[in-house]
Amino acid sequence: MANDLKLYVRTADQTRHAELTLERSRTGADIIQAAVDNWRLPAYTDYALVNATTGRALAPDATLAASGIKEGDVLEVRAALARQLAAADAERGGLLVGRVYDTHAGDGERRPALVLVRAAAPSLDDAATAVSLRMEAGVWSRARDEAMRDGELIVGWYHSHPGLGAFFSARDRETQRAFFHHPFSLGWVIDPARGEEKWFRGPESEELAPACVLTRA
Ligand SMILES: [Zn+2]
Repeated sequence: MANDLKLYVRTADQTRHAELTLERSRTGADIIQAAVDNWRLPAYTDYALVNATTGRALAPDATLAASGIKEGDVLEVRAALARQLAAADAERGGLLVGRVYDTHAGDGERRPALVLVRAAAPSLDDAATAVSLRMEAGVWSRARDEAMRDGELIVGWYHSHPGLGAFFSARDRETQRAFFHHPFSLGWVIDPARGEEKWFRGPESEELAPACVLTRA
């Protein structure tokens, strides 16, 4: 039908994909919502829809017709954080905000059992280079003012290593020890170019096994 477009929709990691026939009057937001629902993507994340054929992001409220989508185009649903990190070839990062649920061990000590990351507050420091991340001072107050809700705290930090692999450098360990030294403090490093990520926890940057990291569906 003239009003329909046959398109391919996939997630950025390409583990989910579908061939769909969609009306030209559908919007990018419709497609994101359908992907979140049908593929059980984490619902608390912001997503962007990118035309992988042209590399251009679709305005969420615009129709496919208005966005210039053509028959056979590939649309990719990307987490906004991943998109932000992938868009930059320099190292990017920020703070993680959420909650810590701890347990009382038999010896009376409290141990972090679960750390929930709800939001990320990106650092806006454009002077960050590909090999070193400088947390600009403002990110701390922005995280407190904008990202944190009642009962939440800064639970860690994240940064990207574009093309270098996901690992903690000696300097990353220093940063973790200096600023993220609680037993629950998380360090998340992502290589958007290679599609790798790793999580570390506590002052000694203990690496978390992938099974310890859950994504809420
Ligand atoms: Zn690093």
